[in-house]
Amino acid sequence: MSIKIPDSLRREIASRAAFCCEYCRLPEQAAFFSFHVDHIISLRHGGKTELDNLAFACPICNRNKGTDLGTLSGNPPKLTRFFNPRIDHWSDHFYIEQTGEIISKTEVGEATLTFLDFNYPDAVIERKKLLLSGVLPV
Ligand SMILES: [Zn+2]
Repeated sequence: MSIKIPDSLRREIASRAAFCCEYCRLPEQAAFFSFHVDHIISLRHGGKTELDNLAFACPICNRNKGTDLGTLSGNPPKLTRFFNPRIDHWSDHFYIEQTGEIISKTEVGEATLTFLDFNYPDAVIERKKLLLSGVLPV
């Protein structure tokens, strides 16, 4: 299900996120494609098109997350929700290594970074370059 987000709302969401993906922290200025507005709780699951349910997301995180709210994670696997940028603090769940790899600190972080594929090889290389150039804070 797709819905048109008004330009003014999109600008507000992007500004609130400092123009970075609220999941993997990629800055929009470093991407080849414009970012998306993600429904944290998808319309399919009853989520609303309201500021408290919207996040600024790069196309890869948005595509990988889709309408999902969580996944099976851990050993033994258990249902684990995804990181929610409206209620969680990024640094409570993740940190970035100098190598460019995002590391999880929590089960929520692990479920999110695995399912959204934060550390696919090109992303790690790009993140490392952004760290070295000072565009991305550690
Ligand atoms: Zn992302």
